[in-house]
Amino acid sequence: MKLTEIFAKNQYSLSFEVFPPKTDALYDSVQTATEQIARLRPAFMSVTYGAGGGTSQYTLDIAKKIREEWGVESLAHLTCVSSTKESVRARIEDFKRVGIENIMALRGDLTADMVGSDHSKWAYRHAVELIADIKASHGDFCIGGACYPEVHPESVTQREDILHLKEKVDAGCDFLTTQMFFDNNLLYNFLYKIREAGITVPVLAGIMPITNAKQVERAIRLSGSFMPQRFKSLVDKFGNDPAAMKQAGIAYATDQIIDLFANGVTNVHVYSMNKPDVAAAIQANLSDIVGKNA
Ligand code: FAD
Repeated sequence: MKLTEIFAKNQYSLSFEVFPPKTDALYDSVQTATEQIARLRPAFMSVTYGAGGGTSQYTLDIAKKIREEWGVESLAHLTCVSSTKESVRARIEDFKRVGIENIMALRGDLTADMVGSDHSKWAYRHAVELIADIKASHGDFCIGGACYPEVHPESVTQREDILHLKEKVDAGCDFLTTQMFFDNNLLYNFLYKIREAGITVPVLAGIMPITNAKQVERAIRLSGSFMPQRFKSLVDKFGNDPAAMKQAGIAYATDQIIDLFANGVTNVHVYSMNKPDVAAAIQANLSDIVGKNA
């Protein structure tokens, strides 16, 4: 099923993200965690893709299993930045062959040696080129793209970032998922601006439950997200008590999601980081809301 069919139902929905194993040895534990999350019956599950395609076979395997064995729709991520046209096209054909209908089309992060180097000879410089190739494959895929309520770090202005986002949508993105954010007002402001720019596709709010203090530092480093004082106080107070931090992080994410649902957002994508207990706790907190008409 295409994810756009799920969004068209206009029901409050939760979906979860997992990441593939980095080595063969980790495969079983990732598979078990993914199956446990699938048993929560989310609207769909996404499977990330290692930049440069290092774990690409695992992305395909896990996304296939989610659909075929555990009966939940899946979204397979695909990055392009350090890939050749041939390898990306082959991967799109693989997705088609195993029945994947939904692809998250991403550029991937630039590695340190790529920054400042000559981009002119790269096969792919931006996600928009990948979206064009997926469209050209005639695979009848539903395509997602990434967006950044706090502006992508490479963009000098939000205006410029939103102009490029509009190009992705015009190239064939059917929906967008946001980078994580911890202050909902940033999302409301962003939604206003992109709607004003003529971007009308569904936007899924990406929520990262922070359940241990180490994750805070990593989340800020990777996403550059603004941490509200309310959130910092919680980390200050409970950061050294793992059980308390976990409970507080789940409560904070739940609170963010309830506020989003109450203010016009219908679909929330939870970066569940292969943690079935965290996904289950958030789902349980919202059990009388998710699935109801928005
Ligand atoms: P782009 O859309 O290409 O944008 C990157 C930058 O280039 C932006 O500043 C944009 O404004 C600018 N830009 C875009 N088009 C043009 C143009 N034509 N000319 C000039 N500038 C342009 N990474 C992974 O490796 N694997 C994953 O599975 C993964 N999943 C993700 C899921 C989500 C929801 C998000 C938000 C991010 C994910 N990432 C993932 C990280 C992502 O790869 C990085 O954020 C990356 O730096 C940008 O990817 P993009 O697809 O947004 O790139």
